Amino acid sequence: MISFYCMYTWRVILFFALLPVFCDAQNPLGNLADGIQSRFSDLQPVINYTLTVDTADLSIITVQLKLFNIRDSFRLAIYSHPLGDDKYWRYIENLTVQADEGKATWIREDSALWKFVIQGNKATVVYKIHLPQLKTFRSLRSASRPFLTRLGGLVGDYHSFMYVVGCTLSPCFIHFQLPAGWQIATGLEPTADPCTFYAASAGILLDAPVLVGQFKKWQFQVSGVPHTIAYFPLPDAPAFDTATLVSNIQKIVTEAYKLFGRLPYREYYFLLQDGSYGALEHSNSVTVGIPSKNLARKVSWDNGEIAHEYFHAWNMMRIVPVEYIKIDYKPPHLSRSLWWSEGLTMFYADLVLRRAGIPEDTTTRVRHLAELIENYLNDPGNHTFSAEQVSMSDIAPPGYLGDYFASTHLQGELIGNLLDIIIRNATDGKRNIDDLMRKIFEGFSGAKGFSGKDIEQMTNQICHCDIHPFFENYIRGNLMIDFNNFLFLVGLKMNVTKNVLLGDDKKPAVDPSIFAWSETATNSIKLGITDPQGCWGKAGLHTGDVLLRINDSAVSSADEFYSRFDNFKIGDTVIMEVKKRDKANKIVVLLKTHDVTLVSIKRLPKPSAKEERLYAEWILGK
Ligand SMILES: [Zn+2]
Repeated sequence: MISFYCMYTWRVILFFALLPVFCDAQNPLGNLADGIQSRFSDLQPVINYTLTVDTADLSIITVQLKLFNIRDSFRLAIYSHPLGDDKYWRYIENLTVQADEGKATWIREDSALWKFVIQGNKATVVYKIHLPQLKTFRSLRSASRPFLTRLGGLVGDYHSFMYVVGCTLSPCFIHFQLPAGWQIATGLEPTADPCTFYAASAGILLDAPVLVGQFKKWQFQVSGVPHTIAYFPLPDAPAFDTATLVSNIQKIVTEAYKLFGRLPYREYYFLLQDGSYGALEHSNSVTVGIPSKNLARKVSWDNGEIAHEYFHAWNMMRIVPVEYIKIDYKPPHLSRSLWWSEGLTMFYADLVLRRAGIPEDTTTRVRHLAELIENYLNDPGNHTFSAEQVSMSDIAPPGYLGDYFASTHLQGELIGNLLDIIIRNATDGKRNIDDLMRKIFEGFSGAKGFSGKDIEQMTNQICHCDIHPFFENYIRGNLMIDFNNFLFLVGLKMNVTKNVLLGDDKKPAVDPSIFAWSETATNSIKLGITDPQGCWGKAGLHTGDVLLRINDSAVSSADEFYSRFDNFKIGDTVIMEVKKRDKANKIVVLLKTHDVTLVSIKRLPKPSAKEERLYAEWILGK
């Protein structure tokens, strides 16, 4: 049946179809010069998507694409998201194609790529996504992956929709056929029909998850821009203080707005979900897992997570690493710049909450910084690898850094703190890192990706100081940071002491420099080492070893490894049977404890007037 609205959208579609919008040519003007024939052969297709959920089978999402103005040979693909490549091409089933004017065929050219050949220039493609049984972590599912229940779920984005390869500027409409009474919350552009949305390009379509079903909803405005919080509860969710939750989120948005002076979207959706963990940022929405039982205990439980993911609306979605700028179905490139995208987002999540008066970390800024430095010193990977190398490890498979662990979030947050201090000192307090963040936002907003060199250049322009050695030493190089060199500038000094690692019972604890993970592809349990000088590494275990047995007893899962670990005691001898290059080895480990570094930061006894002044501004986060 064609409704009045459908007739309306058809007119719009035909209007777009007649516009000379070009496929992803680097230089559209160059195409124009090729003449009328090539001009029309390069027109963008227009796509009408329909996504259907049927409660008769909640393991299936059905997607239909009606393609207009399409070439007689075209390709569809599933986008490989650089931060969440969940490979949903594995779950595509029952794919069919029909052409309006004759024959149509398809072949699968690669895992995530299908080629279609049709007669005419209109085709209909239909496929089903067979939702996998989601693996859970402590009984929680990942908040960014699709799911369906009788009360609703999460659909859409790159997990549901294929895009036309080479034509990512194609506009599209998206219609949702959902069970009666289900609501929709998404950052896609609404139309007059509440079940139909518009996306001006494939990038917008693939970046917009869609929460559907029966959920709670609150709205507020900041600077006239609407924000919606949608919360999908479990059926037995305990009550929590929703007014404070909404107020906290509004304060976070207000502080980010004050920092940048404008909001980079038309509207924004916080898609919060009970019974789930993790989060994924998008241009004008975010999926965040927030268990209701945590909110009932403490409503500000996830303020830091929300502030972090929300800040990505600027620092990741607009200020994009150059490696992430392209929509591609091939596995994503590793980025050298996540120390900025993740680390500075950590820095600002903390700062925005402090400015808003709702800090998640109730310690002072000084103590927070001391804890960051402690973590930096206690994982030797953080000062063995450069910030750029650690950035690349962030989305790489475990083992990228060998027998070390390092965190780009931690390194980057520390670098953000140091750049802030350097700028304050060099400009005598007239500028700080807010000026740098604003400059980078205005310089790189959306159109082009940034690299470390760009950040260096802009830092130079803000501080008018020689920042090149800092970038060479700590961002491109792997020099261990001498924090006191920077802390002195704001009248602070760090002291370091060593202690034995203590467990929850305050007794010396077993060296924790080992971890395990389950590798689905090889159906094996693998071990990781985070410090080659720990007792596990010194005994001869290495990251990537396949764990077979502990003390002659088989280990069937990573969880089982951890429960065995919990019973280990200092002085025990443990026989780790592992497979290295298809050869089984028995490695005997004498369990020891591990030293930890403790950091305290104090004010200099006799700071200069300038150090005193800079400290007073820094401690308030101004
Ligand atoms: Zn992040």
